[in-house]
Amino acid sequence: MKNFNYIQPKSLKEASDILKKKPHEAMLYAGGTDALGLMKQDIIKPEEVVNLKSVPGLNYISYTNGKGLRIGALTELAEIAENPVISEKYPILRHAALAVASPQLRNLGTIAGNLCQRPRCWYYREEFNCLRKGGDMCYAFDGQNKYHCVIGGGPCFIVHPSDLAVVLLALDAKLTVFGDRKTRTVQLKDFFVSPGDDYQHENNLKAGEIITEIQIPELPQDAKSAFVKFRERGVWDFAVVSVGAVIRKEGSKVISGKLAFGGVAPIPWMDESLNAKLPGVALSEEPVAQLVSEILKKAEPLSKNAYKVPLVRNLTKRLLLEL
Ligand SMILES: Cc1cc2nc3c(=O)[nH]c(=O)nc-3n(C[C@H](O)[C@H](O)[C@H](O)COP(=O)(O)OP(=O)(O)OC[C@H]3O[C@@H](n4cnc5c(N)ncnc54)[C@H](O)[C@@H]3O)c2cc1C
Ligand code: SF4
Repeated sequence: MKNFNYIQPKSLKEASDILKKKPHEAMLYAGGTDALGLMKQDIIKPEEVVNLKSVPGLNYISYTNGKGLRIGALTELAEIAENPVISEKYPILRHAALAVASPQLRNLGTIAGNLCQRPRCWYYREEFNCLRKGGDMCYAFDGQNKYHCVIGGGPCFIVHPSDLAVVLLALDAKLTVFGDRKTRTVQLKDFFVSPGDDYQHENNLKAGEIITEIQIPELPQDAKSAFVKFRERGVWDFAVVSVGAVIRKEGSKVISGKLAFGGVAPIPWMDESLNAKLPGVALSEEPVAQLVSEILKKAEPLSKNAYKVPLVRNLTKRLLLEL
């Protein structure tokens, strides 16, 4: 690993100023569960490692009746999984946090780090100098692409690895971002960047910007939610595909809802036109089968991942029928 300066800022401003001054040389470091691996493998070689954990006041979970939930950027996934208010009011979030990695990684990994983790594409993680690392080709396109995206890809074909992002998208979450001495609010659905727009970054954070908080609106009392993650091993594995659903229903019919998908696209995937079809759908075999046949209609699978399309449709069907 390349030698680096370890910086312990005392304020967001101090951290942000260092990151802004050296956008290519300085890296923000939270729990380090992804950042350290990238450094050890020489995928990222920062000169300055800026430890966000030395900035006080970024680790909290706060719920206000009628307003919703606020989670500080440095809150560890284990705390989210164990929080009683989250278990009661947002069980889908608890479920997704518990589905991440292993207890050790959940004890260290933070919610903002989870949203900003880098892709798991095996070419990216190994010594291939692919497009995302500044090279001139995507090795997955004609190579081993079993785990890559089926929609929204090109010229890079990653899937976004975050489980939390899928449920936070279905929950309509927002982020507070600090940078340039001020804060801005970003809807999570606008945070992630498709490779067609920028194939070297996964989100629209600018140099020096730091996520400080995740906000989740209050859910209506009658809202039901669920998350399902399909993975090849029972634990410590990324999603092959995942589905998050938040719906309201009257009798057996959906009155409103949101579906979000992981493991299918370079960004956590939500299809507004699909969600617009949810109201009025009766939650029984035939109408649900009809609805799920609309999922990923525009998918363009690569040579080895067409299996993801029926997989995600069947998981969604199961989830909706369970709800
Ligand atoms: C073996 C293994 C299995 C895993 N399995 C899963 C899984 O199943 N599902 C899943 O979702 N994830 C999984 N992960 C990823 C893991 O959840 C993330 O590594 C973790 O959540 C990252 O949080 P961190 O605090 O450690 O971030 P770090 O590693 O410190 O940082 C990760 C990235 O986020 C940036 N960053 C951190 N905080 C902020 C902030 N506040 N604002 C802006 N940028 C920031 C850093 O600069 C860095 O680029 C796995 C990881 C490993 C190593
Ligand atoms: S999918 Fe993206 S990260 Fe993977 S090899 Fe292709 S360009 Fe690189």
